[in-house]
Amino acid sequence: SRYTKQDIINMIQDNDVEFIRLQFTDIFGTLKNVAITASQIERALKNECMFDGSAIEGFVRIEESDMYLYPDLDTFQIFPWRPQQGKVARLICDVYRPNGEPFEGDPRYILKRVIKQAEDMGYSFEVGPECEFFLFHTDDNGMPTTITHEKGSYFDLGPVDLGENARRDMVLNLEDMGFEIEASHHEVASAQHEIDFAHNGALQTADDIMTLKLVIKSIAKRHGLHASFMPKPKSGVSGSGMHINMSLQKNGHNIFYDPEGDLEMSEDAYHFIAGILAHAKGMTALTNPLVNSYKRLVAGYEAPIYIAWSVMNRSPLVRVPAARGKGTRVELRCPDPACNPYLVLAVCLAAGLEGIKKKLVPPARVDRNIFEMDCNEKEALHIESLPQDLCEATRELEKDAFVRNVLGEHVSEKYIEAKYKEWENYRVQVTEWEIEEYLYRI
Ligand code: GLN
Ligand code: MG
Ligand code: MG
Ligand code: MG
Repeated sequence: SRYTKQDIINMIQDNDVEFIRLQFTDIFGTLKNVAITASQIERALKNECMFDGSAIEGFVRIEESDMYLYPDLDTFQIFPWRPQQGKVARLICDVYRPNGEPFEGDPRYILKRVIKQAEDMGYSFEVGPECEFFLFHTDDNGMPTTITHEKGSYFDLGPVDLGENARRDMVLNLEDMGFEIEASHHEVASAQHEIDFAHNGALQTADDIMTLKLVIKSIAKRHGLHASFMPKPKSGVSGSGMHINMSLQKNGHNIFYDPEGDLEMSEDAYHFIAGILAHAKGMTALTNPLVNSYKRLVAGYEAPIYIAWSVMNRSPLVRVPAARGKGTRVELRCPDPACNPYLVLAVCLAAGLEGIKKKLVPPARVDRNIFEMDCNEKEALHIESLPQDLCEATRELEKDAFVRNVLGEHVSEKYIEAKYKEWENYRVQVTEWEIEEYLYRI
């Protein structure tokens, strides 16, 4: 690893760090942390910091609630936006049981387990995400609204755009934390933005997605704005996705590239795509975890609905962007930024590896706009749809023993139970739309 325990202690002293946040992520993708002062760092580095696991949604029952945090030394970072005297730093932690075993409900552990399988096959899994979000105004009580005064669109720039300044500040803070930011830009909808960072190993990328969201939210707040990763905050305009660009490396080479192959892609690239498509339905409850996620997966806003792949068109679920050589990659377009990145990367990698192991063959690629096909054409090409709502997606997860096995019994049970409950809460609501539509007329 990059740092030793002594390095951490030195960095804390040299940089005048006063607080250290010990972070982890719950199964639903929420970042959690406990703060300690610098005086407690030795205890933390001996893995002696505890928390009450029963207070974290989806973790454990009250009778077995003691959990320990084992800091991952390589994740040490100082928060550049916090005070410069008495600085705040963080360590991302793995969650362990009192008996010294990793906690099977820790999403980071689940991802590590699949990464290990890939490593045993000689692969490293490289991932680059494209995270989209909205910047909205807050009301007089400081609560978020869906109001914005800007009218920017894709790649726009503007002199009176508060979003532009906030975005700049986000990027600079991320760079201070060691991120390599490849691009940041205004997205299609008013108040919608995207920040892309360079691809990295899957564990680091999942950690970095959690950090990116924290930085975006914190900096937005300093600019008097509210950053939201809600997948579809407004009907009638684009939602926010988080496309995932994936490749496998072996001995430093991108194994998806083959100059001799069809479309200059290797056999393994095709098998990987086939594995992803085979489990697309079963993983949707993870990539698109909220009731609201499914309001994004509709026609007309560059979000996928159909289980298909393409090299040109942006309507299918999986696309292979034009770059070849090192940049050869598979882009999965369904995930949204509300997802738990550890679980999503774990199931994507596992499904892709399964495709390689079983030499699965993907269906023929579809380079036409699927939205313009009629039912018969889609049927002839065997193009199926993604689940249409959280209930259907949860049923598909329940049916997919492979995906459930990647998650393990603990997480799949808790996750499925929670998602059915979320759906049921939603199902019994009487919505604004119904009042508008029926109250007067019926
Ligand atoms: N916002 C679109 C989505 O929901 C993506 C648009 C784009 O990046 N081309 O996935
Ligand atoms: Mg993009
Ligand atoms: Mg985008
Ligand atoms: Mg993209």
